[in-house]
Amino acid sequence: MKVSLTVCDVCQDRRREAKTYGVVSEGRTAETDRCAEHAAPFEALFAAKEPRSGRRRYQVTTMEEIEARKANQASARTQS
Ligand SMILES: [Zn+2]
Repeated sequence: MKVSLTVCDVCQDRRREAKTYGVVSEGRTAETDRCAEHAAPFEALFAAKEPRSGRRRYQVTTMEEIEARKANQASARTQS
């Protein structure tokens, strides 16, 4: 049996699940495996980019989608 395990590059704690992060800077690329604690600076970047949950700033709905939704509701009503 072969078990592959990704450990954090910083603490190398086998009990912690590590994720791989890619870093790109000025044409250079590097990868680092980090546990939740040591990935905090990276996760903070992702969190800053993501829209806040529960508050959607941009919601794009086309007229076709609205009409399709109305049609679906109408057909559901007639079937029941
Ligand atoms: Zn760590």
